[in-house]
Amino acid sequence: MNKFIFDVDGTLTPSRQTIDPEFEKWFIDFCGSNDVYLVTGSDYAKTLEQVGTDVCMSVKRIYNCSGADVYEKCINVRTSDWKAPKELYSLLNGWLQASPFPLRTGNHIEERPGMINFSIVGRNATMDERKLYIKHDLEFRERESIAFQINLDFPEISATVGGETGIDIGPSYSNKSQILSDFDKSDKIFFYGDKMEEGGNDFPLKKANKNGINCQVKDWKDTWRVLNENIANRT
Ligand SMILES: [Mg+2]
Repeated sequence: MNKFIFDVDGTLTPSRQTIDPEFEKWFIDFCGSNDVYLVTGSDYAKTLEQVGTDVCMSVKRIYNCSGADVYEKCINVRTSDWKAPKELYSLLNGWLQASPFPLRTGNHIEERPGMINFSIVGRNATMDERKLYIKHDLEFRERESIAFQINLDFPEISATVGGETGIDIGPSYSNKSQILSDFDKSDKIFFYGDKMEEGGNDFPLKKANKNGINCQVKDWKDTWRVLNENIANRT
């Protein structure tokens, strides 16, 4: 059976923003005649804010936190109970003290289902404060160094540079490919994402979806165009 899986940021919406109203209407219609699933690194509250209740109710299932937190018809059906080891917190607190970046805005270690997000500048940073950190990180590649050290010290944990200021840390299986265990071998999976290149957060699922179709898109308009083309070719 055909299953359509979509990333959210950069695939159905501009990054961190809301869905285009025209595309939203079209997409809800598409969900009415196809089995549609969403998979995103964001939490459910953010997805709801981005795509709205109607889309959330129209899709079969939403995989938040890369599949560690699962929703059906706006109801949570599964949440990972993974907890980071104490030693990891010590390491992160060490980095928080040692980083030469001068600002700390609070909420540096954010716990999410199945993962934690670590940020030197902190999740409370304003746009301008975030920009300062982005510049610092570009120059010193600090997040890469932190992620590298975590991956070295904790073989069972995977740390990746996520978003613009943070590092995503979770068990090594905690990427979008984990959702495939919910699908049958006989399913033909069409996966749409904007970050399918190696190191991108859609790459693990693309790689694991060997027998399906993986479609890298440039943005939500490109997704819409490609879907329309596919439909035209089907009829
Ligand atoms: Mg994306």
